Amino acid sequence: MADSQIHVALAGNPNCGKTTLFNLITGANGYVGNWPGVTVEKKEAKLLSDKNVTITDLPGIYSLSPYSPEEQCSRDYLMSGEPDVVVQVVDATNLERNLYLALQVIETGLPVVVALNMADLVEKNGDKIDTDKLSKKLGCPVMMISALKNKGIKELFEQVKKSAASKGQVPEHKFDSSIEDVLDHIENNLPASVPANKRRYYAVKLFERDDKVQAELNLNKELLDHIDAHITDCEKEMDDDAESIITNQRYAYINGVVDKAVKKKPRTENLTASDKIDQFVTN
Ligand code: GDP
Ligand code: MG
Repeated sequence: MADSQIHVALAGNPNCGKTTLFNLITGANGYVGNWPGVTVEKKEAKLLSDKNVTITDLPGIYSLSPYSPEEQCSRDYLMSGEPDVVVQVVDATNLERNLYLALQVIETGLPVVVALNMADLVEKNGDKIDTDKLSKKLGCPVMMISALKNKGIKELFEQVKKSAASKGQVPEHKFDSSIEDVLDHIENNLPASVPANKRRYYAVKLFERDDKVQAELNLNKELLDHIDAHITDCEKEMDDDAESIITNQRYAYINGVVDKAVKKKPRTENLTASDKIDQFVTN
């Protein structure tokens, strides 16, 4: 039945293991083509364990800013209304970089399940990741998996099905209050046709002066000028441009989250001779 179909989007940075996961869970016998209008590969296939679940492998990207065809395809698909849930694949050995994208995907309002991939390497390195803490700080479920070793995959898809039936999460991350004030103001001025769970995403994009979103929402000039005056005030106050303000605050938040949720085993073998002497002396 059409309404029991679930569409899952696989999102993540390049090299986080999306293709390994995709091949494992689908057997890799699906559709391979291009995204509309561009020569960026699109792969889609049914989940081996449940034919009602369709998986779409999105191009590997670093951000949802539309500066490359890959980023544009990914965000167009996420905002298209087709995916019911996103599996955000994260290289758990490179959390800061990967969670920067995860934070933005969570902001789309779509239900997200974060899959911390490469669990085998994390274990081998002797590091500890507190997934409950990460989950609280991000506002969505976080699970450890290894696509290569086929670990945690069944549990992941049990959660994915639950999340697909949910309304999505409210992001835990908040920007500084002067930015949040402008975001609230923008949200309140968005057309009524923008659904509740997507309003924050669009407000942030308008704050960043994303011209594609400005065009897509078709806001009148008066409203755009009004919004711009608020953004400019904020830029003066923070002495930075709007896009950098957003980027820096996202990184700062992620750094704090990783700091609290990850315990790295000290890598003595990587220390230089003088580091070792310092350690010896201070001990
Ligand atoms: P993609 O760019 O996100 O599609 O990443 P790939 O699936 O091509 O994987 C990138 C590299 O990471 C490959 O060498 C994979 O074998 C490896 N890889 C993927 N998943 C895992 C994992 O769970 N554990 C380990 N150790 N390596 C993995
Ligand atoms: Mg790939």
